[in-house]
This record gives sequence, structure tokens and C-alpha cells, in this order.
Amino acid sequence: MDLFEMSQIPLEIAMKKMKLDPGVAAIIEHPERTLEVSIPVKMDNGTVQIFTGYRSQNSTILGPAKGGIRYHQNVSMDEVKTLGFWMTCKCAVAGLPYGGAKGGIVVDPAKLSQRELEILTRGFIDKIAPIIGEKMDVPAPDVNTNAQIMAWMMDEFSKIKGEYTPGFITGKAICMGGSLGRTSATGRGVMTSVVEALRTKGIKPEDATCAVQGFGNVGSWSAKLIHDAGLKIVALSDVGGGIYCEEGLDPYKVAEYAAKHKGLIAGYPGTKAVTNEKVLEADVTVLVPAALELQITQNNASKIKAKFIVEGANGPTTPDADVILEKNGVMVVPDILANGGGVTVSYFEWVQNLERYFWTEEDVIEKQHAFMVKAFKNVYETSQKYNVSMRVAAYIVALNALAEPMKLRGML
Ligand code: GLU
Repeated sequence: MDLFEMSQIPLEIAMKKMKLDPGVAAIIEHPERTLEVSIPVKMDNGTVQIFTGYRSQNSTILGPAKGGIRYHQNVSMDEVKTLGFWMTCKCAVAGLPYGGAKGGIVVDPAKLSQRELEILTRGFIDKIAPIIGEKMDVPAPDVNTNAQIMAWMMDEFSKIKGEYTPGFITGKAICMGGSLGRTSATGRGVMTSVVEALRTKGIKPEDATCAVQGFGNVGSWSAKLIHDAGLKIVALSDVGGGIYCEEGLDPYKVAEYAAKHKGLIAGYPGTKAVTNEKVLEADVTVLVPAALELQITQNNASKIKAKFIVEGANGPTTPDADVILEKNGVMVVPDILANGGGVTVSYFEWVQNLERYFWTEEDVIEKQHAFMVKAFKNVYETSQKYNVSMRVAAYIVALNALAEPMKLRGML
């Protein structure tokens, strides 16, 4: 089964619980438009290398397609299609006026010089420019892409259009029209989801421990803000391995250490070295997978000791694993709810760009909190009403949000 097929399983379970036209699921099971491009880059050694890039626009029913662009050696059309589908559902769950999309380039950016990375980035925008724009499809950062890459993309797109177009992309630096609070937004939303999940079982943050897999933008900000919320962070990991400390870790200090050690956390003083697998299986209250897809599978799901899994990453848990976790009483706060804080603040950034009027950081944080708490409550109440997992409930919420506009538009 490929990733896309796997991603449809909870959607199908949700459909069975509802009395909806089967067309609702069928429409979002097929991206509206996909594009594959080739990007030639003259490398520093004088040779030409051709890179492959993709953009999948899953849906524009609720608004412009929205979703990040990732740079990773394993990017494929299947992955981008799946991630675009999740964005449609994520935006619907968060209550945003957006559809869903995702893009990516097959590349390990660590192997490229800054010059090569810039040429590749600009070349990708040149190729996808006909189908993106502030009212059509609004990209953002994702795995291995950041504010510098967004700046090159905005500069290239502005040149193509001959106008200043900050609203065509989000996740920009503040001086490029970015929003305060965007960098930490996904992690902040994960933290809110953790606190709200604990609340459903009457657990105080101070009485809970947490392990975070992944220490990129989402993992590091999740760890920092979960720590600030009062939980004890006992295990962290990144691509170089994991660290464990029973007494608790200060993620701010770990981030400072990583900045001085090629971005890696291994060897952080006073900790025990552990594998990535051991971090997932740590004896904690809350586990936050914040790296890549397919981390919790039928092979390790029964070894998970956490009572709550809050998905910072997109698609970290397979449907097989979901069955095991549900049987074991683990509450899984799904990606399309838990990591929706990023795209929510992307929405705020876009609104500020369209208005050319900027908000304070307090405003952003307060509004994000309100969106996240409302979405969590909606999904939680739906899970109680239908007696289904939080994941299936999130799909019920998304399908409900999409069904009426589909009908009114004449699609059903
Ligand atoms: N890449 C992020 C996600 O998967 C953010 C997308 C966005 O802000 O458009 O949710």
C-alpha cells in the first residue's frame, strides 16, 4: 500500500460513520491538479544537474490551495499528493478559508552550496509560477525549507509578476512581510494540543513528562513551548540520534548546544545517548513525533508507553499502528489537528499581507490559541459523539466542512 492509499483509511472510516454523499470523499481523494517539473542547475563544479519538483493542489473548495514546499531526497509525487490531501483536511479542521496543496523537490539540501540552493529554488518557482499566487495557491515552509528559501521564492515570483507580492507565500522573515509568531507557530499549536489533551483526562502539565522525536523547526519549538507549559522533557532526538535525561532537559539549552554542533543534539552534557526508536518508546506521558512520516508502525506501536501521542509531524502513525494504539487506550491527537498551528499563523500572515497592516506578537499568539482550542474542542466533542478516535473525528469535522460548499457549488 502506498502512502496515499494509507492516508485514505481514516477518511473512509469517517465516511462510514456519516450519512454523506460518497462524492465528498471521492472529490478530495483526487487532487484537482498536479504538476511535475524539471529544474536544471549549473552546479559549482560546472556540470548541469537536473532536479525534479512537484506541486499537488488537492483542493480549492474552501479557498486558495495552501501548503508547504519540502526539500528532501525521498520526496515523490505520491508523498506530495498525500501531504496535499492532509493540508485540505487540516485547513478545514482549523476553520481556515483555504484548500490544500503541497510541493517538494527531490534533493538533499545539505549537499548543495548556498548558490546552488538559490538557483534551484528560483528555478522551481519559475516552473510552478503559472499555477501559484495569493488567490490560487499559497506555498510555505516545510521539511528543510525556511525563511531564506521563502525570501528567494518571493523575490523570484515578484520579478515574474512585476509587482510586490508578499501574499503569495507565507513563512517569510518579518522584514519581507512575515508575521510575528510564525516561526514558533507549529510548535505552539502542538503545545496547545498537548495541554488540551491532558485536560481531557484531568492531568496537570506539571505532572506529565514528554519525549519529542525530531529537533527541526517543529520539534525544537514544540519541546521549548511544552517545557514552558510545565511538562518535563526527558527525551529528545534528531537525525543524529537521541538523548535522555530522567531529571529533565531544557530544550532552549539543547538548541544552543545544537547550534554549536552542526545542528545536532547528540553529546549534550549530562544525558544518556539513546536511539531514535528508544525515544519513541520512552516511558513518558506524552510522545510528540515531530520528524517524518511512518515512524509509529505495527512493529513498534505496542511498545509505546506514552498515554498521549500528539503528532507534530504529518503522517507519523500508520493505520495499523492506530488500531493497536486505540486498543491500548492511547489518545492520538492527529496531525491534521495537532500541527495546524503552523498553517493557522500562515493564514494570519496572508491576511496581514493582503491588508498591509501588521499585528503584534501578542495578537498572533492570542488568536492562534483561540483557533487551536476551538478546533481541539470540536474534534474532541465529535470523537465523543460518534465514539471514534480523535483521528477519525478530525476527518468527520473536515468532511462536514467540505460537504455543504461542494453541494452549493453544484459538485454533488
Ligand atoms: N508545512 C506546514 C504544514 O504542513 C505549514 C503549511 C502552511 O503554512 O501553509 O502544515
